Amino acid sequence: MKARTRFAPSPTGELHIGGVRTAIFSWLLAKHTGGEFYLRIEDTDQERYVPGSTRRILESFDWLGITLDGGPDHDELRTMKTDEDYPGALDDGEYRGVPGPFVQSHRLPIYRQWAEWLVAHGYAYRATETPEELARMRAEAQSRKQTFIFREEMRLRTDVRPDEPHVIRMRVQPRDGRTEFDDLIKGHMVFENAQIDDQVLLKMDGFPTYHLAVVVDDHLQGVTHVLRGDDWLPSAPKHVLLYRYFGWEEPKWAHVPNVLGTDGKKLSKRHGAQSVFEFRDQGYIPEALINFLALLGWAPGGGDEQSVFTREELIAKFSMEGVGSSPAVFDYNKLDWLNGVHIRRLADADLAGRLIPFLAQAGIAVDTPERRALLLRIIPHIKERTKKLTDAAPLVDFFFGDIQTPPAEMLIGPKMEQHLSLYALRETRRLVEAVEPFEDAPLEQAMRKLGDDLQLKPTQLFTVVRNAVTGKTVTPPLFATMAILGRETCLARLDRAIARLQSGG
Ligand code: GLU
Repeated sequence: MKARTRFAPSPTGELHIGGVRTAIFSWLLAKHTGGEFYLRIEDTDQERYVPGSTRRILESFDWLGITLDGGPDHDELRTMKTDEDYPGALDDGEYRGVPGPFVQSHRLPIYRQWAEWLVAHGYAYRATETPEELARMRAEAQSRKQTFIFREEMRLRTDVRPDEPHVIRMRVQPRDGRTEFDDLIKGHMVFENAQIDDQVLLKMDGFPTYHLAVVVDDHLQGVTHVLRGDDWLPSAPKHVLLYRYFGWEEPKWAHVPNVLGTDGKKLSKRHGAQSVFEFRDQGYIPEALINFLALLGWAPGGGDEQSVFTREELIAKFSMEGVGSSPAVFDYNKLDWLNGVHIRRLADADLAGRLIPFLAQAGIAVDTPERRALLLRIIPHIKERTKKLTDAAPLVDFFFGDIQTPPAEMLIGPKMEQHLSLYALRETRRLVEAVEPFEDAPLEQAMRKLGDDLQLKPTQLFTVVRNAVTGKTVTPPLFATMAILGRETCLARLDRAIARLQSGG
């Protein structure tokens, strides 16, 4: 069966990583079955509206490489409360047959029509209680240690006319029955109707509440599976009842467990990056982030231990059966590891392109063909050591610009005296001048021989030379580094190191 799924964020700020995880499950399910995944913007709560968030959501999806089969197009984005147009948006929102509009504030007459339908068929009623009156009723219930559940009988006025300001509330019925449904993740769910509020469906301002809008839209847009965070589980019986009142076929429900930090607490800023852009700016690549997020609560199952997946492999293997019912733990160390794995899988030129903006930020301009060629020569030697794109700058900066001559103590090797280090540097200088060709393997051979001649351990000699030519203690492999730096640069840096050590300062 082809699944049609949606991601339905409210435009209230950055795309949180927990929400993205749920979006990824929805997307994988749709793609696995050859169906559609689309975006709907749920902007019915106008007070929480944050300008720019829809554009940021689109940009996040773009960066992640999650393509949409429907969603707000340029025209629709431009006519939002604030212009949210985005260059990568769809040209035609309905292009794979999902009917729009995709922004809920563009669908108000539809919600009104269905709210009135419910009133006309006895499944909803009009009410006029103001927020103040409701607050009083709630306080009274609390003073009697009861949870406040609004019921038709509590209305202060029953003669509400359709032409005066009012809300439309659903009439939960039967009053004392139960509402039951099956959830693909949580199993069979049972709710006492007595615990379900006569929820407001249409507000005084003519906007629907989430509960009405989500049911109407999911039905009209042909959603087959509703995947969302399990914080929505308490709302699900209201939605199930609405489907039954309307006589519409229910979608399959799947309430996805929360994401927790390694300390077992709900994932929050304390644990680290939260939004897609924070992860991007910290040097994670989308291939890794998608892989990691897909594994937050999903596993291929059947004894399949695979943990590194491409997008295509995820799509091929994803199934709802593999989604677990307990909370997933967000382990930043695992993400770092996966990021390193996916970075190593990138072609050198691809990695170079992704590194350039991070290098620029660190003050290393890779802005000429020569400098790009230099970066390409370096990349094979740093790939293994790059877990995040931000790791590269300190590994390559000394290739792109001059270094500070290291202080004397840095030029003295482990368990070596000053005069011995000085001697080793002078001998190395001689060697660097003579070695032919000036390449990785001949350099290594000559340096190892020099170490033997001086009765130094390789780490002793190599530490002195590494520090002298790079000014760093951690670098790509030494001989490749020297070969790429070139004979002239190595000689110049060795000379300065020798002078520094001679003067002792
Ligand atoms: N607008 C809701 C949210 O932002 C969507 C919930 C759902 O997917 O049904 O969480």
